[in-house]
This record gives sequence, structure tokens and C-alpha cells, in this order.
Amino acid sequence: MAHIILKRSSFFHNLDTIAAICGSKEKIALVLKDNAYGHGLVEMATLASEYGITKAVVRSVAEAEMIEHCFRYILILADTAPSTNTKFHYAINCLDDIAALHVNCNVELKVDTGMHRNGIAPEELETAFKSIAARQLRLTGLFSHHRSADCLSSEWFWQRRRFEKIKIRTANLQRRYGLKPLAFHLSNSAALFREGGCSDAMVRVGIAAYGVLELEKSLSMPTLQPVLTLYAHKIASRTLHPHERVGYNGTYTAAVSQNIATYDIGYADGFMRSYASQFQTPEGHTVLGRISMDNSTFSTAQNKLLVFDDARVAAAAGKTIAYEVLTALKPHLPRKVV
Ligand SMILES: *Cc1c(COP(=O)(O)O)cnc(C)c1O
Repeated sequence: MAHIILKRSSFFHNLDTIAAICGSKEKIALVLKDNAYGHGLVEMATLASEYGITKAVVRSVAEAEMIEHCFRYILILADTAPSTNTKFHYAINCLDDIAALHVNCNVELKVDTGMHRNGIAPEELETAFKSIAARQLRLTGLFSHHRSADCLSSEWFWQRRRFEKIKIRTANLQRRYGLKPLAFHLSNSAALFREGGCSDAMVRVGIAAYGVLELEKSLSMPTLQPVLTLYAHKIASRTLHPHERVGYNGTYTAAVSQNIATYDIGYADGFMRSYASQFQTPEGHTVLGRISMDNSTFSTAQNKLLVFDDARVAAAAGKTIAYEVLTALKPHLPRKVV
């Protein structure tokens, strides 16, 4: 069966690199949402905990519950399902969330500094503090998200400045409401490398930890190592004779006699149809014709096929980003840590 190999040494190398830039392991909040970017939630949480990471970021309460034994702190980005777990911190993405969350839970306010996706408007800060106090929620942090940290432009700078202003206003409100100082955080992977350090409580790092960060060429980047490799196994092989065509609609035609094989990876596994015409494996084998639901045909007949070891290469073939390539990989694929 097609399977995924996760390299512990590469993951730890990336975490060493990130910890060196942000100052300590304690400042790393590892983003494990969406099955740890397709790597496997429990596998990556276990490795992270072995390394000494104490903070995680997920999307839902269900994800948080699966890995709560691995961390001291878990930020839940978009869910209001109740839980009594005191390690969980719920993000407030809009004022309506405040009414939906259960009394006494930990919450963090997300503030919109310019991405205009999630988060309350800076003008809503006072109202939010008031409603949070009235609903008896425990406010522990305040954060925002960069929209263009990976591009060389002024955007990174003005968003940072807006966040600094919000911090000052928040400090006043925090004193007025008699709260402990809040944990502020803004940076994702790209922003961490732009800043070259971390002046906040923590960084929310995803793609860099998995080793497939991409920044605009003019921005410098440390060497990271991709953690995930995808393999597939041969189902059937044959010789394709000149003029014979392969797969649905026969979109590939052999020019000369060619030994080919079909492998057990297809779009139902997350190996997307859009890769087909541009895709090449690290060993130089190409996809022939269309990718099917459970199969794809390659220009080789070896038993075990290394499909990709760097999601950025597949992303280029599919005209997408490594994030989509990785999160497309279905949970049913076996994952093994080496
Ligand atoms: C996904 C996400 C991150 C991680 O971003 P990377 O680019 O993978 O480091 C950080 N913060 C929030 C709010 C996110 O949704």
C-alpha cells in the first residue's frame, strides 16, 4: 500500500533551527491543525513532545483531545465545542463567539490587523473585554495573523506596527479589568524568519517545522529539511508498444516500446489529478496519462516508487502550494516514523 515515511531527524533539525531563531523551545507553538499538515496528528504530536515542545495549535476540540497528553497548552483556532480541559485555549474569531463559549474556559482574542479574514476589529476591543468579563471567560492571550509575511513588501511592517499599537491599548484594558498580563503572538513561519527573532510570547509555526517553507527568493531562509516522503507500490506492469495509449481517455501515447507500471496511489489518496502533466519523481520518473482514483501510471516498472520527498516540487507541478499538497494526503495512508 502507498505509505508515508516521517523523518524524525529532519523534524528535529527544523525544530533546532526554529528554536535557535526564536530563542527557546518554550516559544514554539507547533501548528498541528489538519492532521498536522497531512503528516499525521498523533505521530507528529508524539515526536514534538519527545523533542520538548510544550505548546500546540489545532483547529478543533476533537483534534485537541487526541493530543492533549502531549502538551501543556493547546490553542484551538476555530471551535466552540465545550471541554473541561484547562490546557485548552479557544480563539475568539468574532464577537459572537463570546456568547457561544462555555463559562470559565480559557480564551484568546484574535484581532484583525489587516488580513480581514478572522478576528475582531481593533475598534471592538473594549466591547470584547466587557463581554468576556460578563460571560466569565478567562482571557489569557491576544493574537493576530500576517497576510503576506512570505512576500517582500511593506505589508509585514505595517501589520506589525498595528499589532504593537493594539498591545498598548490592550495593556490598559487588561489593568482596568484586573487581568494578568496577556500572552501576545503574531508570527507564523514566514514572519519568524522575517523578524529573525521573537519579541512576543510565542510563534505559531507550521510549514517551517515540516521543512517546506517557501519565501520570495529575495528573502533569506535557513536550511530546513522536508519531513515527509510519499511512497507507492506497483500493482501491475506491462510493455506499452508504439502508438499505444494509457489510462482514461488515453492522453499519453508511447512513441517507442516502453516498460511501465501502475502504482497504488491516486487522487482518492490525495495525489491530485492536476499534477499529472508536469509531475516528475525525485528519481526522474514521470506520470503517464491521467491520474485515476486509486492508481497512477509511471514511466518505470520498479516495485517500490518514491513519489515525492519535497511537497514543493509536487506543488509546482499542480500549480498550488505545499500546504495543499500535504493536507490533501488522506488519513488512511499508513504513516511510519523512522
Ligand atoms: C495555519 C496557521 C499558522 C501557521 O502558519 P505557517 O505558515 O504554516 O507557519 C499560524 N497561525 C494561524 C492563525 C494559522 O491559521
